[in-house]
Amino acid sequence: MTRGKLFVISGPSGVGKGTICKKILEADGNMRFSVSMTTRAPREGEVEGVDYYYVSKEKFLELLQEGELLEHNKFVDNYYGTPRRNVVEWTESGHDVLLDIDYHGAFQVRESYPEAVLIFIAPPSVEELKARIRGRGTETEEQIEGRIAQAMEDLAQADEYDYLVLNDDVNTAVWKVQQIMRIEKGKEV
Ligand code: ADP
Ligand code: 5GP
Repeated sequence: MTRGKLFVISGPSGVGKGTICKKILEADGNMRFSVSMTTRAPREGEVEGVDYYYVSKEKFLELLQEGELLEHNKFVDNYYGTPRRNVVEWTESGHDVLLDIDYHGAFQVRESYPEAVLIFIAPPSVEELKARIRGRGTETEEQIEGRIAQAMEDLAQADEYDYLVLNDDVNTAVWKVQQIMRIEKGKEV
């Protein structure tokens, strides 16, 4: 059986990564989503085990020490990380895996899996990005400012990615990511 491929999606907070990932997963039954672990509180409507595994800081640091995380990062006062086990099991059983993680994590994944495909999602403009973060209405103004500052740092990493996709019209962005996935999977044949 061919091993599944890893696809890493990154981009600034609020650019639409979650929205794009959801549509890709709905359309591709072989794709699995790597649910990350986080120490941040669930947002309204988020579900344990679907959006994230929510854990305490103590638990997170314990799992990190035990080598259970494929990569991790601290973002605006909270830890985020990818549980190693699911990624290994899924790729070994032939499933492709989608990760929605930041650039620190993406580059750590590239170290362990050099064949991973790194896709950066870019906003049409900084103004539009700010409007999307505010429009989502899930953070306080202070948290929004933190995310906007972080977004500027994230945008500077775009050149390090294998592909850059602009999320202007969301369906076009999804289509482009799907084309990238087809091309990358075709390389194995
Ligand atoms: P991320 O996962 O990157 O933080 P989300 O998927 O939560 O971002 O999207 C942030 C907000 O922007 C959401 O309210 C979402 O509905 C909206 N959004 C996503 N893509 C687009 C788009 N192409 N045009 C306009 N709004 C969008
Ligand atoms: P949010 O709080 O908006 O869900 O995510 C904040 C940031 O953390 C986003 O940039 C997101 O991509 C990143 N992130 C989510 N999960 C992980 C993870 O497992 N590892 C890393 N390194 N970053 C993550």
